Amino acid sequence: MRVLLVEDEPKLNLSIKKGLEQQGYAVDNVFDGTEAELLATSEDYDLIILDVLLPGQDGYAVCRKVRDFGIETPILFLTAKDALEDKVNGLNLGADDYLVKPFAFEELSARIRALLRRPKKAIPELLASGNLVLNTLTHQVTLREKEITLTLKEFQLLEYLLRNKNQVITREQLVSHVWDQHFDSFSNIIDAHIKNLRKKLKGDYAKKLETVRGVGYTFRE
Ligand code: CA
Repeated sequence: MRVLLVEDEPKLNLSIKKGLEQQGYAVDNVFDGTEAELLATSEDYDLIILDVLLPGQDGYAVCRKVRDFGIETPILFLTAKDALEDKVNGLNLGADDYLVKPFAFEELSARIRALLRRPKKAIPELLASGNLVLNTLTHQVTLREKEITLTLKEFQLLEYLLRNKNQVITREQLVSHVWDQHFDSFSNIIDAHIKNLRKKLKGDYAKKLETVRGVGYTFRE
């Protein structure tokens, strides 16, 4: 899951980024409203965390422009303002949730999970193909009821491929959902991770993870 984080307080920004990365999210973090609009309308995110008071333009303006652009990515507002009026303002502009500062990281994390679980995005907790089961909450992967140990990136790659079974996923799509914007998409690190993943899956399940020559990969069921 790839998250755009917009927060101008450097310490808070970096601590949220770090916390989310530890939970397995790929996080692009920016510190002003102008850059936020640029990224939100040009990159593909699964969630946007948006502070209200920002240099450049405020979070409300960013939210309105993103929605006007036709982007339906869930938006979670962060703000020090807790007036009812502000909440109503944000929600009217198309935000999905609202968190008042200061907040505990666990609270943010719970809100994010709730937003990502919404039926519109249809994200199940268990992703499976035959005897291969991936639990998105506990990060456990089992094959024929035996747990297999994956690195974080291998897990994220497998998760994305299982969510999009039988579809051809380009290397660019994998990069944008599993790595942050600074990743060099021409490097062959994806292929290396896929190779390791196949080794761990073994036999017929490794074969399901097909290479689509010149394009990317698909998890064939
Ligand atoms: Ca701020």
